Amino acid sequence: MGTTFHLGAGTPNPNRIFCVGKNYREHIRELNDGVPDQPVIFMKPASCLVGEGELIRLPRHGSCLHHEVEIAVLIGKKGENIAENQAGSLIAGVTLGLDLTLRDVQSDLKKRGLPWELSKAFDQSAPIGTILPASSPSILQNLSFQCLVNGQIRQRGNTNDMIYPIPHIIHFLSGIWELQPGDLIFTGTPSGVGPLRSGDQITIESGKIGKFSWKIAAHAQRQ
Ligand code: ZN
Repeated sequence: MGTTFHLGAGTPNPNRIFCVGKNYREHIRELNDGVPDQPVIFMKPASCLVGEGELIRLPRHGSCLHHEVEIAVLIGKKGENIAENQAGSLIAGVTLGLDLTLRDVQSDLKKRGLPWELSKAFDQSAPIGTILPASSPSILQNLSFQCLVNGQIRQRGNTNDMIYPIPHIIHFLSGIWELQPGDLIFTGTPSGVGPLRSGDQITIESGKIGKFSWKIAAHAQRQ
């Protein structure tokens, strides 16, 4: 974890993790939320990343750990104020990730108008698959992906259903931050989010990207 985590040979070390919330209509509906009028952005530290196969411990400060499968994009070049039609040139790679979320903690924070970090940015909250180097962003069009828990399909998504497509997300982010090599963008989750329990096996897959699995530990997170 943390500084020892590498995204893979030939890719920059992880920098920041930008996450997009509320980017699929069916998911907004299942959470009884409203459609946002601009991308909803939050961040996780790179120390949250979990490589494939690493055991995931249940956090101790909440009781409902939800899976959110998401397409994750790796930035390979610096860029500021990037136009949508130039956004593809910043993308160095693509993979799948999980935006693990303590839903009970998040609901409480939302109610009280507080920031989401306690529910989203805890240790091991960002499992990520192996980066597929992407020289062309066309792979991101009409890309289907899914999430299975103990072999049962829980989530199915397709990038065509995003409210804010990836070029727009890169445009939006680069208007606020100078994007840098090693930045990761988690692009939002489709509907079907649900709880993970001790001993569960979670798998995320997409035909063109690969298949990645993690096991939820039988016991809660270390002291
Ligand atoms: Zn998410």
